[in-house]
Amino acid sequence: MDESGDRDLLKFTFYRGRVGLYALLKVLGIGKGDQVATQAYTCLAVPEGIIASGAAPTYVDIDEYTLTMDPDDLAEKISPTTRAVIIQHTFGIPARMDRIAEIAADKGISIIEDCCHTLSSTYRGVPVGTFGVGAFCSYEWGKPLVVGIGGSVLLNDKAVAGKMDELYRNFVYPPLVKVLKIQLQYHGFQLLYRPSTYWKIKALFHALSSAGLAEGNYNPIDGATAPDYSYRLAKSLVKRLSVKKKNTEKHVERSRWVVEVFKSTIKNDGISHPVIPQEGEAVFVRYPLFTDKKVLLIERAKLAGVEMADWYNSPVHPLSGDSLALVKYALGSCPHAERACTRVVSLPTHVKTSWRDVDKIVSFLNKVEL
Ligand SMILES: *Cc1c(COP(=O)(O)O)cnc(C)c1O
Repeated sequence: MDESGDRDLLKFTFYRGRVGLYALLKVLGIGKGDQVATQAYTCLAVPEGIIASGAAPTYVDIDEYTLTMDPDDLAEKISPTTRAVIIQHTFGIPARMDRIAEIAADKGISIIEDCCHTLSSTYRGVPVGTFGVGAFCSYEWGKPLVVGIGGSVLLNDKAVAGKMDELYRNFVYPPLVKVLKIQLQYHGFQLLYRPSTYWKIKALFHALSSAGLAEGNYNPIDGATAPDYSYRLAKSLVKRLSVKKKNTEKHVERSRWVVEVFKSTIKNDGISHPVIPQEGEAVFVRYPLFTDKKVLLIERAKLAGVEMADWYNSPVHPLSGDSLALVKYALGSCPHAERACTRVVSLPTHVKTSWRDVDKIVSFLNKVEL
């Protein structure tokens, strides 16, 4: 692979991360009749981007303890029509890139990395986002860099970057009303949200998006391509990204110390910690924990005012039941992913997580009876 691609976060910016994924599939010539492998235990944004390109998703199971793709299941699920595999570094835990790269090379398929949870983790000392033909990331709430709504594509191959240059000219700026809504949401969020207000903000966002006042997270899967897929990132958000990008190291440092405290002080017989592959180093966007009493734990955390997220609640979050078939997920096809949905909760690690928040979270978890 030609190493001189284009890895500047500011070069190819899009309305959302999934729009970047869509564009990347397009420049790779992937579309109708093709399959794209992706892990279960992901969010709808990923299959949405695949389906928008015309291709269809194939789901690969995860390793139960790292929550990233199981290479053996990937080898089994690849078919003659599989053209690419999307590797998600879940919560920041790097996937087993050596085995995955071997399999992809052997089968002649492209690797695309989903770096929405991290751009700072490494595998054998090599940063994620550099293993495949390209990677995409996202700037929504809860991501390492929050800009409002948005995403970027990073490219590791010069020829592909050249094609992206051409395709990118067709992307237009989103309508002003959409941008204003995103800006309002961003400023409201910055002002109101901290780990201690998590549950209130969550309820408020749900109320606003049900009323159509906030920019919701997903488009209908109805065979039509949403207008989102023709938009680049608004100029005002690109500007914010260029400022925030400079603070990456601050985010990484905070995440490291918060996780260090969580790892060394959370001790509860009903809770276990994640596993990181020996060759990898994880910079967590959130810190996942495993429990057999997920529903009970979250209920108690809510009562205690302790931030605790429940994602992913479904192998293709937030879909459930019959709607999983809309994105071609067959219940029972990825048992480890389905089990993880019933067992994983996660804690904040971002810059707004203060020493007091960490202290409150740890004392809650060490006392709670499960
Ligand atoms: C947030 C996220 C995306 C894409 O999000 P957009 O809303 O399209 O920016 C994709 N994959 C994962 C794992 C994510 O967390």
